[in-house]
Parts: sequence; structure tokens; C-alpha cells
Amino acid sequence: MTIPERLRLIHSQIAKARENALFDQPVKLLAVSKGHNEAAVRMAMGAGQMIFAENRVQEAGEKFSALRMEGTAPELHLIGPLQGNKAKDAVALFDVIHTIDRISIAEKLASEMEKQNRSLTFFIQVNTGEENQKSGVLPKDLPELIKSCKTLGLNVIGLMCIPPVDAPPELHFSFLKKLADEHQLTQLSMGMSHDFEIAIRYGATHIRIGSAIFGERN
Ligand SMILES: *Cc1c(COP(=O)(O)O)cnc(C)c1O
Repeated sequence: MTIPERLRLIHSQIAKARENALFDQPVKLLAVSKGHNEAAVRMAMGAGQMIFAENRVQEAGEKFSALRMEGTAPELHLIGPLQGNKAKDAVALFDVIHTIDRISIAEKLASEMEKQNRSLTFFIQVNTGEENQKSGVLPKDLPELIKSCKTLGLNVIGLMCIPPVDAPPELHFSFLKKLADEHQLTQLSMGMSHDFEIAIRYGATHIRIGSAIFGERN
């Protein structure tokens, strides 16, 4: 299947999943272009896809620089872990960052936005499975992080999670929804190629789909 055909299929799957959803939320499709080239991005844009997501700042910068110079850059989201020394480039490049997970990175982002006079939108990544190797704030530390982000003036609109590979994702999706509700956050970044229909059922507003659109990564 071509990229436009895959996108059409996913849109119909999204529509079907919304019929079975427990909530009536709108769903944004983020095309995860990591591991694929600029030509693939342009092909998806040709099929009407205007939101992309990358997990590395440098790779995203290289891939999207020509599009930005042409003035046709799509909306760009960062979905990978962010190091402090990349905050400057991330603020310059991205519109939305899904991976705030500690106060120190929130502080750096706030200070970079002020320096660059840019205003981004944010999600906080929650390590719902409390996995050692995974980034994301632990659920018990979430209230304090949200409070700090508010104090810093960051526009946090929602929560993001990546469920453990060996766990039923619905437990993690419904847990993330509950945490978001507790903090009056309305947006939920959850669901990938293999589980986006379940994520939509449990309230996802932003689904992050790579391989189902672009094929397998090398
Ligand atoms: C790579 C990635 C995705 C997309 O994964 P697919 O299985 O290719 O859809 C989604 N979210 C994050 C955080 C990723 O790193």
C-alpha cells in the first residue's frame, strides 16, 4: 500500500474506533516520521496530513528544515525524551512537546521560550507502568510537576503515556485518563500503530502513528 492509501485506511479505522469510544472526543492523527525521510513526509502532506511527530530533535531539524524554508512546514510535535542541552533547538523547532517529565526540563523550556519569544504547547509524560528504563514522571510525582509547570507559565494541555509492551494497554490508557481528569487536563496523547483503536476507546485525543503510515523503520 502507498502512504496515501495507508492514511485513508487509518482515517476509516479512527472513525470506526470513535463510534465505540466511551467519550465523544475529537482525535488528532500525528504521523510519526522518525526513521523515514523527507520524501515520505512530503508524500503524506500530499495526502493532506499536516501534523507530524519526531522523537529526536536533531533528526527532526534536518528533515523539516527545507519545508520550513519553503514556508510550508506542517505542525511538528516532539514525542521522544528531551535532554536539557537540546531544549533550545526543541523550542525553536517544535510546536508541541509531549515529553515534559521533570521540573528541570520544564524550567529550561520556559526560559528558552522567553528568550526566543516563542510559545509552545505541552503534555507531561507519565510513566504509568513505573518502568525503570522508561522516561516519564512517576504518578506520585505528577501533582508537583503540574504545579511547577503552572508556576512557570507553561501551557500544559494534557498527559502522554507509552504502556509497557507486555501489559494490557487499556489499564494504562484508563489510568492516564483518570489522572488527566483529576487535574482538569483535557488532552490525552496515547495510542500507537498497534493499539490506537483501544486508546481512542479510552479517550485519546492525540494518537501517534508511525509504521502503519510509513511502513517498518530500518
Ligand atoms: C515511534 C513512536 C511512536 C510510533 O510508533 P509506531 O508503532 O510506529 O506507530 C509513537 N510514540 C512514540 C513515543 C514513539 O517513539
